[in-house]
Amino acid sequence: MIDLHVDTPWRVHFKERPLSLPEGHATPSKLVQGAYAGIVYPIYIPDYIHDDRPEIADAEAIFSTIERIISAHALLAPAFVSGSGVTVPSERVAVFVAIEGAGAFASDIARIDEFIRRGVRLIGPAHARDNRLAGSTTGKKRHGLTPLGKEFCERVYRQGALIDVSHLSDKSFADVLTIAKTFQAPVVATHSNARKLRAHGRNLTDAQLAAIGRTGGLVGLNLHADFLGGGKLGDVVRMVQHLVAKAGIEHVGIGSDFDGGNPSAAIADAAALPKLAAALRLAGMTDDDVRKVFARNALRILNWHP
Ligand SMILES: [Zn+2]
Repeated sequence: MIDLHVDTPWRVHFKERPLSLPEGHATPSKLVQGAYAGIVYPIYIPDYIHDDRPEIADAEAIFSTIERIISAHALLAPAFVSGSGVTVPSERVAVFVAIEGAGAFASDIARIDEFIRRGVRLIGPAHARDNRLAGSTTGKKRHGLTPLGKEFCERVYRQGALIDVSHLSDKSFADVLTIAKTFQAPVVATHSNARKLRAHGRNLTDAQLAAIGRTGGLVGLNLHADFLGGGKLGDVVRMVQHLVAKAGIEHVGIGSDFDGGNPSAAIADAAALPKLAAALRLAGMTDDDVRKVFARNALRILNWHP
């Protein structure tokens, strides 16, 4: 299992969860039970800090928190080393780093380079609100990428990382798609579902899912109950099947949103993921396809280089 979005660093950095991770959806023992080989920890920079002016220094501080979480657990191994690709160490969980909500970088977009050099692989320009780079799907205006946001996305691709379109407005999604094509980069939505099955702005239309597939990209299944359109195991299976039908089997992964949202009762934490794999096999998915959705597609994306 490689999970494209787990909000444990937010809990530790902002919500006083101890470094020992005694609780939550993705404790070390739950990761082992869930057969995790890799996990993406986002540097989530809330829009509201410092009177709605988040700073690049916040991103640095949260990155340090991620490093401290890794140091506190023998199970976790940093995968954010520069070089030509990543290998997942056996018996350990490889930790990848992303940025969720990059509005702070509007003050100096060149500073994203050092984060990418330190191993950040996926970057979401906006989170819950519109910012100086991009419109958010839950923002007031839901505008597209600003001129600075376009420059930012181009810079990210040129430096070898990928843009994450989860949380972006439909207009920003379309703008990212155009830029990604010029860089032949895969478009990734790390933690979003299908709007067809659950009408929510955080979910993607069938046309967006198909577009992601055509770029060689990936959509990560979000296990937050409110984005699933039903809390039963069958609802989760149905969502995976729909994502596969629209994006393609090479273009679906899992971005659980554990420790961020409220997971469905059916898959309540990381330990329950083998239950989803079994249900998908029972619904007719081959072993090979289950492996693609649970890990291989995500690994391809995390290893992308221009
Ligand atoms: Zn999110």
